[in-house]
Amino acid sequence: MTCRADPGNVALQQKSPQSDIDRRRRAPHSPAMEKFTGNFTQQEPIPEAGIEAALRVMRSGRLHRYNTQGDELSEAALLEQEFAAAMGAKYCLAVASGGYAMATALRALGVAPGDKVMTNAFTLAPVPGAIAALGAVPVFVGVSEALTLDLEDYAQKARTSGARVLLLSHMRGHLCDMDRLMEISDAAGIAVVEDCAHTMGARWNGVLSGRQGVFGCYSTQTYKHLNSGEGGLLISDDAGLMARAVMLSGSYMLFDRHAAGPPPEVYETLRYETPNISGRMDNLRAAILRPQLAALDKQIERWNRRYRAVEAGLRDTPGLRVVERPAAEHYVGSSIQFLLLDWPDSAVTEVIARCAARGVDLKWFGGAEPTGFTSRYDSWRYAPTPQMPQSDRILRAIVDMRLPLTFSVDDCALIAHIIRAEVSAVWQERAA
Ligand SMILES: *Cc1c(COP(=O)(O)O)cnc(C)c1O
Repeated sequence: MTCRADPGNVALQQKSPQSDIDRRRRAPHSPAMEKFTGNFTQQEPIPEAGIEAALRVMRSGRLHRYNTQGDELSEAALLEQEFAAAMGAKYCLAVASGGYAMATALRALGVAPGDKVMTNAFTLAPVPGAIAALGAVPVFVGVSEALTLDLEDYAQKARTSGARVLLLSHMRGHLCDMDRLMEISDAAGIAVVEDCAHTMGARWNGVLSGRQGVFGCYSTQTYKHLNSGEGGLLISDDAGLMARAVMLSGSYMLFDRHAAGPPPEVYETLRYETPNISGRMDNLRAAILRPQLAALDKQIERWNRRYRAVEAGLRDTPGLRVVERPAAEHYVGSSIQFLLLDWPDSAVTEVIARCAARGVDLKWFGGAEPTGFTSRYDSWRYAPTPQMPQSDRILRAIVDMRLPLTFSVDDCALIAHIIRAEVSAVWQERAA
């Protein structure tokens, strides 16, 4: 797959945007009109070790996580042990999806129908959906120009909204000032559940994402950092909360087969009080995830090389704002965002269309109608949607792009070059 990333790209990138436009106008088939031919939704194959492990599980017929013999630990239990160790957490539970992990965390915390739960106005649909799954009510907190939770808005809503829980989405891999967030939360007695669907392996001031809240939730759906098609992981250091989560996930009375779960005595009364809301992970998915987990750090490096190539190519494009990453943040660049701040909708639409014509698949969070995965707080009409003009200004500006590892670093430089040329062209036309 992928494009011809010819060595001329690098030189072209350094030319002024005006010269790009001139070149394009003069000669439509010049290198400035290069197209990218890669596929933005194509992930890498499952590693051979995962395929072999999956075959072993299938040949055994024992796909259910509790279908073990003697002291055997199931693939699901082994994955939980390994993930807990990788994150430095006491306990881990493997479940059916990231959305299930979040809803289970909220249930374990005792969130009840009608309760308010704070969450990000800028996130994806499964996040408010996990709140709605309990009959609880999302209270949206604004987004900053850094694409993180607006901590001023949060501090205010932590005091006044009546919510006792924050479902914090590290949306698109952007971590807010986690030290400040925890200060605000602790002062207001708010329990934090972290949605780490885009931050598995990321760190704030050296602390892994998912380790500051009472629960960390992860997704192993195909477009996340580990791929089992569907799947989720939940971590916590709290024995009582994790025991509830294990019971909720559908452990029957087999909780002693959770090698990364709390000790049996924690279940003494819990096991009679906690309903079974089945959402277990099976051994087949766990088997293909374990080798991927072992390679996570290496994959993060590969994502970040790609991210930095796009970022470098976009920097100093007139009219385009790169989202600067704080020094305290060690991110995972599995996607990249930039802002076309205060651009009219028609101009943003034109940039998206022109990039699409050159094979670059950009998503815009500002569209009037939700499309693909880009719905926004005011598209979730089952929840109250307050006026959030400051957040609306940011949301309207966010352009988003996935960076699958099937792209080479050269591909990423070409993609940035195309975006730069098209943003510059639309910007210049509007100025003229
Ligand atoms: C993917 C995703 C989830 C979880 O999704 P599932 O499809 O339920 O695994 C949660 N939050 C965000 C921001 C996501 O992108």
